[in-house]
Amino acid sequence: MSTPLLNEISIPGKKGCALPECDVPEQELSDLFPAEHLRDKPAELPEVSEPELVRHFTNLSSKNYHVDKNMYPLGSCTMKYNPKINDAIASLPGFAEVHPEQPVETIQGVLQLYYELEQLLCEITGMDAFTLQPAAGSHGELVGVMIMRKYHKMQGNKRKYIIIPDSAHGTNPASVAMGGYEALEVQSNDRGLVDVNDLKNIITDDVAGMMLTNPNTLGLFEEDIREITDVLHDVDALMYMDGANMNALLGITRPADFGFDITHLNLHKTFSTPHGGGGPGSGPIGVVEHLKKFLPRPAIVYDEAQDFYDFDWELPDSIGKIHGFYGNYGMMVRAYTYIRMLGAQGLKELSKNAIINANYLRQQLTDTFDLPYTQHCMHEFVLSGNQQKKRGGKTQDIAKRLLDYGFHAPTIYFPLIVKEALMIEPTESETKKTLDQFADVLKTIDKEIDDTPEKVKEAPHTTPLRRLDEVKANREPNLRW
Ligand SMILES: *Cc1c(COP(=O)(O)O)cnc(C)c1O
Repeated sequence: MSTPLLNEISIPGKKGCALPECDVPEQELSDLFPAEHLRDKPAELPEVSEPELVRHFTNLSSKNYHVDKNMYPLGSCTMKYNPKINDAIASLPGFAEVHPEQPVETIQGVLQLYYELEQLLCEITGMDAFTLQPAAGSHGELVGVMIMRKYHKMQGNKRKYIIIPDSAHGTNPASVAMGGYEALEVQSNDRGLVDVNDLKNIITDDVAGMMLTNPNTLGLFEEDIREITDVLHDVDALMYMDGANMNALLGITRPADFGFDITHLNLHKTFSTPHGGGGPGSGPIGVVEHLKKFLPRPAIVYDEAQDFYDFDWELPDSIGKIHGFYGNYGMMVRAYTYIRMLGAQGLKELSKNAIINANYLRQQLTDTFDLPYTQHCMHEFVLSGNQQKKRGGKTQDIAKRLLDYGFHAPTIYFPLIVKEALMIEPTESETKKTLDQFADVLKTIDKEIDDTPEKVKEAPHTTPLRRLDEVKANREPNLRW
């Protein structure tokens, strides 16, 4: 059943809340604002009762798919469970009710949390300094590229390219282009890893750096990472790690240890702050010591003698300001809570469980689907629906049919180097029972492709909306309710 809009159930004069008596002198709006900024008539806001409002949003939320409802194996996006304690802490008035323009002496606790979170991220990645300002992973990438630019400018290097593997996330080439460089593609070898010979062929001193995801988007650890970083460093190029997916590495190994100079982290993936539905995100970046001076303004500093936290704006070599304030604060509180709750040992267990879950599920599915790369995976793995497509069930059909069984679909058709890709990331949150159920459903759908093909091709059948006619939506878009 479709849920009406609030405007459709609105009745003039109905009220959902009672305002207290006005205890200050009333003012005419026209005394406060210039006439051209005033409306001719009041805005058409819905007028509904409190229960109507609560039911409206509760109904919508139960139509929506979310990780509190069931498994959400969307590869590369790390849709792990977000512990509720994170939200409870972030809602404490001392965090939730501060104003970004408050004098620093009144927000010492806020700054201390920023400072300590940066220290924790340094410890986790091996980097020497962090900024929490970037508001998304892709924003972190852009900031990383800007730092590369500044570095080469100061070195007097003329550089043109940033190397990116053919398996890279789409944001990587986009950030490179926005940062004023050209993307130069390096091939993957038949094991799904960077082809070091190809890398050696394309490297020149026109290269500013390399952007590499590790584990890569196939869920595989780049085994030749030391050699790769040496090849780049030999021409004074910088290594950037797309660390959006740190879920397999926590407490086990660190980007700085295998030679990366810059990395971003996605707090909204690895550190369980909510995402999907538009964020807000957070993509802090960390750098090694010699790049610290280029980080964006301001930096958070701590004066031990005075026991005082402050913003430092006096950073002459900084790339400048990249965000209105110091990042999305609520996300910092959630990530900080998550890291502190788990502790060093807990984070390591988390990564081990993410790896075990992915390998277990992969093993359950290898008889049913093609597996283009056969070595053990890290936190995620990529299957191919090639066989299923030949029998009449495309990857897209399988993804839609999964919705009927109450599971969110995996990431599909990415990475681009795998045909009919299904990229599955179960995360550490899922139990063996849920993983078994998910594998069983995929096997059932595989059978349906032969036995009841229309069930698969016309799926989903049970969601509030059926499959959209994408061609029609493109040709005759109807954008009105
Ligand atoms: C999610 C992701 C990004 C981009 O992060 P956003 O916060 O969505 O901008 C970049 N690289 C990889 C590998 C990712 O999974």
